[in-house]
Amino acid sequence: MQNSELLNRFKIHEKLRFESDDGEIWLNNNRMLLLHSKALAEIRKSLFDSLDPIQAQSILVRMGFTSGQLDAELALRLLGTDDNYDVFEIGPALHGLEGMVKAQITESVIDWEKGSFYGKVDFTNSIEAEVHLETMGVSDSPVCWMLAGYASGYSSTFFKRFIVFRETQCVGKGDSKCVLVGKPVEAWGDDDYIDYFKQDPVKQQFRSIESELTSLRGAATAKLPEQGELIGNSPEFIKAFTLLNQAADSPINVLLLGETGVGKELFARWLHQNSGRSDKPFIAINCGAIPNDLIEAELFGVKSGAYTGANASRPGRFESANGGTLFLDELGELSLSAQVKLLRVLQSGELERLGDNKTVKVDVRLIAATNMKLHEAIDQGRFRSDLYYRIATYPVEIPPLRSRKSDIPLLARSMVEKYAPLYSKSIEAISEPALQTLMNYDWPGNIRELQNIIERAVLLAPNHGAIERQHVVTGSSTTQRTDILATEYETPGIAENIYDHLLEENLPLKEFEGRLVKAAMEKTKGNMTKAAKLLGITRRQITYKLKSLEEKTSAE
Ligand SMILES: [Zn+2]
Repeated sequence: MQNSELLNRFKIHEKLRFESDDGEIWLNNNRMLLLHSKALAEIRKSLFDSLDPIQAQSILVRMGFTSGQLDAELALRLLGTDDNYDVFEIGPALHGLEGMVKAQITESVIDWEKGSFYGKVDFTNSIEAEVHLETMGVSDSPVCWMLAGYASGYSSTFFKRFIVFRETQCVGKGDSKCVLVGKPVEAWGDDDYIDYFKQDPVKQQFRSIESELTSLRGAATAKLPEQGELIGNSPEFIKAFTLLNQAADSPINVLLLGETGVGKELFARWLHQNSGRSDKPFIAINCGAIPNDLIEAELFGVKSGAYTGANASRPGRFESANGGTLFLDELGELSLSAQVKLLRVLQSGELERLGDNKTVKVDVRLIAATNMKLHEAIDQGRFRSDLYYRIATYPVEIPPLRSRKSDIPLLARSMVEKYAPLYSKSIEAISEPALQTLMNYDWPGNIRELQNIIERAVLLAPNHGAIERQHVVTGSSTTQRTDILATEYETPGIAENIYDHLLEENLPLKEFEGRLVKAAMEKTKGNMTKAAKLLGITRRQITYKLKSLEEKTSAE
C-alpha cells in the first residue's frame, strides 16, 4: 500500500496541526519542527567536524531513535483499530510524512506471538544521504544514522523489545539506494554498533583518543592524489578537487557546474582516470554541438534504415562507453525527448538503438556538465526535474578563474610549457609585469581565455626570451590588437616564418582564421567533418564560421 493511502486510512493528516498563531506545529501530542534541510546539513557537519566520528554518529542514531519511539507511541494507540501489520507500517509512512525518506518494507518475517522479528527496508530519497553528500562528499561507509536510529526506535517501541536496524547499502557511499536490515539486538551478536544506542562516556573518550592516534598516524600518508592535468593549489581549486576526489572511486553520477571555459572536461577526464573504470573508455560528447535531431542517434545508436541516411547499424556513445565513463557536456541543451531516453538508461541501464526494439544493457558512469541554471530550465519546462534529480546527486562547482587568481602563475607556466614546443620555441620566463597584467584581469572566458592569451603570447615572444607585458594582451580592444601586430620578431623557425609572413601582410586574426578555414576546406575537398577535425573544432563550429565568412564576402 502507498504510504499516502495508509496515512489517509488512519487519518494521520488530521493529527498534524499547524498552530501558526502560537508558533507551533503538532503531530498528535508531539510538538514538531519544520527544519530546513540545509540547517540539518549544518548541524550534522558541525558534529563531525568537532567530535570523533563515532560520537557524532551515535548522537545522530539516538536522535533518530527518539523520533522513532515517539511515532511508535502514536501508532500503538491505533492498534486494534485495524490489521496489526498495517498499523506497524504507519512508521515508514510517518517517516515519509516528516520528510526524512521514502521507506518501503521489502522483507518482513514477524511473529507477533513469539515476538520474533526480521525486517528489510529500502530507503530512497534519504535526506541524510543527500545532506551528507552535499557537505561531506562520498563516504566509505553508510551515512544514514538518524534513519537507522528511527527504524530501531520505532520497531523497538512497537514490539517492546530491542530491535536494531543497520544500514547495509547507502546512497551516501555511492550505492543506488539505502537498504536497512533490522533484527533483535541479540541476533546481531556483541557488536560495537549496539553501543551507538547507549551513552557511554568512558568508552567514547577512549575511542576518541584511539581515533586521534589513528589520524595522526595516517596524516603523513593521507595526501590528495596526483592532480595530473588539473593545475592549481588555491583554496577554491582544492575545495573542488577534494570533492571530486571523494567521488572518484565510486559509481556515483557527478554533475560538474561552472561557467564556460573553466575546464569541466579536464575535471571529468581526471575523475575517469582516477576511478575503477580507468582502463575502460572515456567518451565525451557535447550536447550543444550536435543538432537536436541527431543527438539521440549519437547517444543511443541507430539500426540501419531507422531513418534516411542511416545506412548501417551503429552503436551510440552509451554503448561505446560501456564499462567506462560517458561525459555529457552542455547537458542543458539536450532535447526533451532525448532527456526521456537518458532518464530511462540511468534508471534501468537499458537502451534501444533508434528504430530497433532489441534491448541493450549498458554499464556506464555518467558525468554531466552544464553552465546553465538547470533550476530555471526546469521552471521553464525545458529540463525534466526527474532527470535533474537523477543526475544532480553529486554536484561539484568548478570555480571561475577570477575566484582562483592565485593559480594564474602556475597555470600560465604550464601553458607556456605546452605551447612553446608547438611553435618550436623556447620561452625562458614570464616577466613580472606580464604576470601582473594576467593577475589584474577578470577572465570572463576563464581558463580557455587564459589559454588563448598564453598561446598568442608564446607566438609573439622572442625565442629564448621572456613573455613581456606587451605579449599578453587581455580583452579584445582594437588598439591592443594593433599593438600585438606591430610587435617585432627576429627568430627563425618554420612556424615563425609563417607567422612573420602573415603579420607582414598586416593580417587581422579574424582574417587569418577565415583563410585557415578555407584552406582546410580545400585540403579536404569540401568535406566539412574532415575539415573540422583538421582544425580541431566541431562540425557545428565550422558550419558557423563558413556561414559568417559567406556573409562577410557578400557584404563586401
Ligand atoms: Zn543511506
